[in-house]
Amino acid sequence: MEYTLIRSRRKTLSVEIKGGKVIVRAPERLARTRIDDFLESRRAWIEKKLEKSAELAAAGPITDEELRALAESAKEYIPAHVRYYAPRVGVSFGRITIRAQRTKWGSCSGKGNLNFNCLLMLTPPEVRDAVIVHELCHLREMNHSPRFYAEVRRVYPEYDKWNRWLRENGGAIIDRLERNADL
Ligand SMILES: [Zn+2]
Repeated sequence: MEYTLIRSRRKTLSVEIKGGKVIVRAPERLARTRIDDFLESRRAWIEKKLEKSAELAAAGPITDEELRALAESAKEYIPAHVRYYAPRVGVSFGRITIRAQRTKWGSCSGKGNLNFNCLLMLTPPEVRDAVIVHELCHLREMNHSPRFYAEVRRVYPEYDKWNRWLRENGGAIIDRLERNADL
């Protein structure tokens, strides 16, 4: 199995799929055979994730027409779900902007305005809701502190699972946007 090995002062081994690549994080002196054994024990999981990410990448560039359709459905889906979650977080919000972006899935301003990437419509609904809850919680807590994440998980208990989905597969979706030469 091909992988990128990042050694650091950590104490445990971890594996992550990012942009169709296997990234392994390991303690500085851990023997290579231990790392390979670990990967072997995770082989089925890794292969499943790699397949999913190849599938997304193979989908081809996003056309202008597709982009318009995504923006249109996002303009209905996202505000409706923001309205659903805002009272659960206990915040009120300002304007909602939807556009195609290369670097962000969502963001918010100090004035309570929210901004979402229309490419979210290419992710599972659970991922969209995870991003919406994340941004709404920032209207209470403008940081990524443990308190912020506790609030996110209170409102959306499956947050970690779907946030991981986005970390693993989001890059392949952005790549499809970048291959649209007109943008
Ligand atoms: Zn954030």
